[in-house]
Amino acid sequence: MKTDLFLDANAGLPVRPEVLETFQRVERDCPANPSSLHGPGRKARAALEEARETVAELLGARRGEIIFTSGATEANNLAILGGARALAEGGDGPTPLFGSKAEHPSVLGPLRILQQEGCPLTLLPLKEGALVDLEGLDGAGPESFVSLQWANNETGCVQDLKQAKSRAPDSILHCDAVQGWGKLDPSAALEVADLFTLSGHKVGAPKGIGVLRVRETVPVSPILSGGGHQGGLRPGTESPALAAALAEALGLAEKERGLWEESGKEALNHLFRALLEGFPESVIHRPDPEGASLPNTASVGFPGVDGRALLPACEKVGLALSAGSACSTGAPTPSTVLLAAGVGEKLARASLRISFPPGSGRAEGEEAGKRLAEVVNRAYEVAKR
Ligand code: PMP
Repeated sequence: MKTDLFLDANAGLPVRPEVLETFQRVERDCPANPSSLHGPGRKARAALEEARETVAELLGARRGEIIFTSGATEANNLAILGGARALAEGGDGPTPLFGSKAEHPSVLGPLRILQQEGCPLTLLPLKEGALVDLEGLDGAGPESFVSLQWANNETGCVQDLKQAKSRAPDSILHCDAVQGWGKLDPSAALEVADLFTLSGHKVGAPKGIGVLRVRETVPVSPILSGGGHQGGLRPGTESPALAAALAEALGLAEKERGLWEESGKEALNHLFRALLEGFPESVIHRPDPEGASLPNTASVGFPGVDGRALLPACEKVGLALSAGSACSTGAPTPSTVLLAAGVGEKLARASLRISFPPGSGRAEGEEAGKRLAEVVNRAYEVAKR
């Protein structure tokens, strides 16, 4: 039996051992409710606010601009529903919305809800590799709300957020930055985004914690009702332990970014080499080679292969990876991102997302490429019969 190769880092990473220790220590030492006014409550509050301060420093923000959430799904919902509704309250009419066809469901979902409430929605089209065509942003004014991802979780394409900001300088810009943190230099994204979403479990913190940075000048309405926690923006008892774990994991991911950049690129290059040698028809779905992309991510399609066979066959050779999209019924639906990026339906069905965890290098790249080529060649033979 071959050892397992984990190639699904974009879906989530294991908790870092030191982060797990921090989580346990804070949970054990600060068991009280951080809103309680007694000593133990104040101790829990201090741990929570220390974590908030650390996250604020990492994001170049003020402490009051950091809102802890249950994850990026909630942060995206808060940013979009809360941001667009607050804009409408201050303006005259429904908020015009802009997103793209490359967005994650936790962005598309709230955009669709607002569309049903009467907000006009423009989903910007994609170019090759899922690069967002930003032309449609021209003319978006101060009454508009724009939500764009930093990097695509399937193809690894990095979006040009600076260009987006220059095309719609007066609009509110929300960025789902989940896939970029720890893999890319965050300065440009942090500079242009008014609202900025991150998720803990993508960077080695436990699942169940995320963050939304809300620039002080940007109005956002709460989407939950309850107590007055976190400036009234996100009611609900905060977890100092999860917040501390998130702060530490975000810091470590940023500190070790260079490592991931270098080794990930090496892993990808060797993956591509082995794949193209083993199955020369392989198609790599990416923007032109000059385009920026995540150092660990590739979406690869295999013409002439029945997509349904791929994931189970990968599992058999110890490859843990994802199809382009969720596969709940066992029959993969083609990735809507790949389809929007111009990939044909058959090829989109026969495509896989590979995302290397940090520390992967030549050996992992070569091994993944060899095993994948083996799987694909077998599936190709079957499809020919
Ligand atoms: N946005 C992107 C780009 C993601 O990849 C994910 C996780 N799949 C999310 C948002 C949602 O994150 P969470 O699991 O923290 O809700």
